[in-house]
Amino acid sequence: MSGNPGTKELPLRVAIVGSGPSGFYAAEALFGAEVEVQVDMYDRLPAPFGLVRYGVAPDHGKIKNVTKVYEKTASNPAFSFFGNVDVGSDITLDEMRQFYDAIVFASGAQTDRQLGIPGEDLLGSHAATEFVAWYNGHPDYVERTFNLSCETAVVIGIGNVAVDVARILSKTVDELKNTDISEHALNVLAESKIKNVHLIGRRGPAQAAFTPQELKELGELQDSEFVLDDPSLELNPESQAELDQPKASQARKLIKILTEFAQRPATAKSRRLVLHLLKSPIELVGDGRINEVVLEKNTLIGEPGKQKSRGTGETEHLDCGVLFRSVGYRGAPIPGVPFDEQWGIIPNEDGRVVEDGKPITGLYAAGWIKRGPSGIIGTNKPDSIATVKALLADMPSLEPSPKREKESVMAHLSSKGVKFVDYDAWKKIDAAEIARGEAKGKPREKFVTVDGMLAAAGL
Ligand code: NAP
Repeated sequence: MSGNPGTKELPLRVAIVGSGPSGFYAAEALFGAEVEVQVDMYDRLPAPFGLVRYGVAPDHGKIKNVTKVYEKTASNPAFSFFGNVDVGSDITLDEMRQFYDAIVFASGAQTDRQLGIPGEDLLGSHAATEFVAWYNGHPDYVERTFNLSCETAVVIGIGNVAVDVARILSKTVDELKNTDISEHALNVLAESKIKNVHLIGRRGPAQAAFTPQELKELGELQDSEFVLDDPSLELNPESQAELDQPKASQARKLIKILTEFAQRPATAKSRRLVLHLLKSPIELVGDGRINEVVLEKNTLIGEPGKQKSRGTGETEHLDCGVLFRSVGYRGAPIPGVPFDEQWGIIPNEDGRVVEDGKPITGLYAAGWIKRGPSGIIGTNKPDSIATVKALLADMPSLEPSPKREKESVMAHLSSKGVKFVDYDAWKKIDAAEIARGEAKGKPREKFVTVDGMLAAAGL
């Protein structure tokens, strides 16, 4: 093959691994560039959209409208979707290199971080990510069981994922039944006996990771009252200095909302959602199954902007029938691709995958697998644009791959017995899900097994 890819005669062939926001923003950036390009997007599941479909809370339907932008990208004739293909086993990295000039890993962060405290493996102690994937109908998690027949749930962490979990546990069936929450989860939540949900933050109100809109929603629940364990909301001088910074407008908003909540008169709602600050779990206790969390009160140490929590030695015991740790997502390695175990990301410089400090030609990373699990969906757009910029700058050094026809990829997958789902097949699944939801007044009722999705796609 002669010449560099990127021309009409030799279009740039790019594989994007992962069909969540960062993958779609990378595809959009490639289509917006002044090069001839063909994009094949891979996903392990038959359905696209990654965390928008399986992470965003069902009662945040408006956020999911972002898929309309991704659908526009998918309608580009130079775009192909290969759903239900596991990169690493159905197609290895070496095999992919035969078909593509460049590969962008946008595989997100599929696992979670642990607390590293005694008792974490007790029954009833879960990763929030599993609960989220379960109520969102992720095929790998539908069989999980969560005991909601107890009175008290504890959620560790005060980021937006923790807030999602606490809110879903606190909502009535009426508040959830017209969302796209999966039926199996709605049925379990309908039988829930949970009366108290405790949200535990290790630092103070000025360092909370949740955002104002998400916090406000906690004060608007139909039958659950949001309360502060310590309504004084006291700030140490360093936290006050943090709030006085011009860039701290979000933290100031949070304090304002929390102060309003603290002053609200009590209501007769039947459940409570309690926010605890400056406390860390130090042990989960139970005889096989969790029944108590030991919390240690914290103080903050360090200069403004860098304050960390430190235990004071003072402890309290909280009854707990089910616990969700929500202390951050973590990326998972892809066979053959360098992986930074400490940070749970693919090591990279400006999106170029590096090994031993040197970039590997033709390999890139975007989104959470590039920078770690931070930011909202939109944060991934500039991130993916930056990766695509690096890729385009490298074009003169990209070796054209030897097998350039889409048919050769399809033949390869078929030879391995992989039933891949193209975008038209996904649209059939999509239409069937919407039709299933319509009868129940829901935006969709997802298929929660791969076989179910494949059957709906006619495969
Ligand atoms: P996050 O925002 O990073 O929050 C993690 C939380 O866990 C923080 O409160 C952190 O406290 C705490 N934590 C970490 N290690 C801990 C430990 N060992 N013990 C106790 N607490 C610990 O992560 P996330 O909630 O998983 O969310 C990931 C990203 O997705 C965020 O950017 C989030 O905003 C976004 N997201 C957005 C939405 C939305 O827009 N509605 C919904 C869901 C997720 P420290 O601050 O002290 O480290």
